[in-house]
Amino acid sequence: MNLTIIGTGYVGLVTGTCFAEMGNTVTCVDIDSKKIENLRQGIIPIYEPGLEAMVQRNVDNRTLFFSTKLEDSLGDCDMAFIAVGTPMGEDGSADLKYVLDVAAEIGRYMSQPLIIVDKSTVPVGTADKVKEVIQQELEKRGKDIEFHVVSNPEFLKEGDAISDFMKPDRVVVGTEDKETAEKMRQLYSPFFRSSMDRMLVMDVRSAEMTKYVANAMLATKISFMNEVANICELVGADVNKVRIGIGSDSRIGYSFIYPGSGYGGSCFPKDVKALKKIAEQNGYNAQLLHAVEDVNDRQKFVVANKVINHFGENLKGKTFAVWGLSFKPGTDDMREAPSIYIIKKLTNLGAKIKAYDPKAIHEAKEFYLKDVVNIDYVSSKYEALKDADALLLLTEWKEFRSPDFKSLKENLKTPIIFDGRNQYDGERLEHLGFTYHQIGKE
Ligand code: NAD
Repeated sequence: MNLTIIGTGYVGLVTGTCFAEMGNTVTCVDIDSKKIENLRQGIIPIYEPGLEAMVQRNVDNRTLFFSTKLEDSLGDCDMAFIAVGTPMGEDGSADLKYVLDVAAEIGRYMSQPLIIVDKSTVPVGTADKVKEVIQQELEKRGKDIEFHVVSNPEFLKEGDAISDFMKPDRVVVGTEDKETAEKMRQLYSPFFRSSMDRMLVMDVRSAEMTKYVANAMLATKISFMNEVANICELVGADVNKVRIGIGSDSRIGYSFIYPGSGYGGSCFPKDVKALKKIAEQNGYNAQLLHAVEDVNDRQKFVVANKVINHFGENLKGKTFAVWGLSFKPGTDDMREAPSIYIIKKLTNLGAKIKAYDPKAIHEAKEFYLKDVVNIDYVSSKYEALKDADALLLLTEWKEFRSPDFKSLKENLKTPIIFDGRNQYDGERLEHLGFTYHQIGKE
């Protein structure tokens, strides 16, 4: 098929590249001309394992193209995917400006029957709005062209995006039109070689809702476990043991019940807020979602509070090594990363930070921690430790899992670790002479 992907960010670039990999001809369009110019030269704007090589292969095979001009690619296109951002608006609802701008552009330029697929995360009812905007533009041009708007929310995880897209747990397709559902089935069939049972076709509104509910459920699990961790500390229980104790119940399971420093990233915070807002706009107070957010807002400061409990409120003259800045491992994405809140709190109290992250230093330095002066970025995890009063582990990158504790102890001024991701065996560390603070165990 000939596909146009509009918006070449995390979702659009991965989507376009994976469809090209399966033999489709794909044009990825973006209004950011610098991004498109870079992509044409093989410079990938994000860090995502495996993506660079796959982009290059498909560019070389002439199955993947980049453009700033939507009008050029819509001419002979079977499907146009909307994959632009839906950031949080001022009132917490999803800002649909970019999605509706794209809809208007599609209406202005489409010249033949088209399936428009919404991959962006959008509130229930957005497909109807997109349809309305396209229809209005067509009417302005005096054109009557058939089109269908499909909801096809994306569930990929940054850091595992390629494998999530190539081997999806499920693909959700919202459409009431049988022929359109069949075309979507054809597009996705190479991703489901054994059975198409995992392609779930439903009505548009349920598909739009599914994406928010999936993210809200995952955020709820995280906040639930963080709440439990805080209670464990107060009663002298060990959340690591409680986690295993409950996970072994097959009704609960082990996934997504790790305590930590709270969720971040570009999706969970904004999607929980948006779902709360959708409920509110429909006269319903989503109490549980309020609590999920409140717990998370508090959790982002737990590591900083532990540092303050240990060193006191005045942190002048103290230096802390920070391992990990991105909101989770495997990505350079710093959006809503707990590290931002922790580092700002500690530096406001006078501390100096020596930070190391395998991929996110550029993002942190240029954007998210730009206004923090008391921070040095270093190029290795051990360099960060030199003369530091303690180590703070904030993102569980694999390279932090099994460090050389001897060298860690030699480099730190005092052998203290604040672990915001519960990566280490507390008993072993105490035996090695460390003071080890973790989440959910005193
Ligand atoms: P992003 O910010 O990385 O990328 C969006 C891109 O759209 C940018 O490159 C921007 O320049 C481009 N754009 C904006 N307006 C445009 C226009 N009129 N024409 C062409 N391009 C335009 O966003 P993202 O992280 O890829 O997220 C996109 C959507 O997918 C969001 O709704 C998000 O919630 C959802 N989503 C994201 C993830 C994720 O892990 N990042 C996962 C699943 C779903």
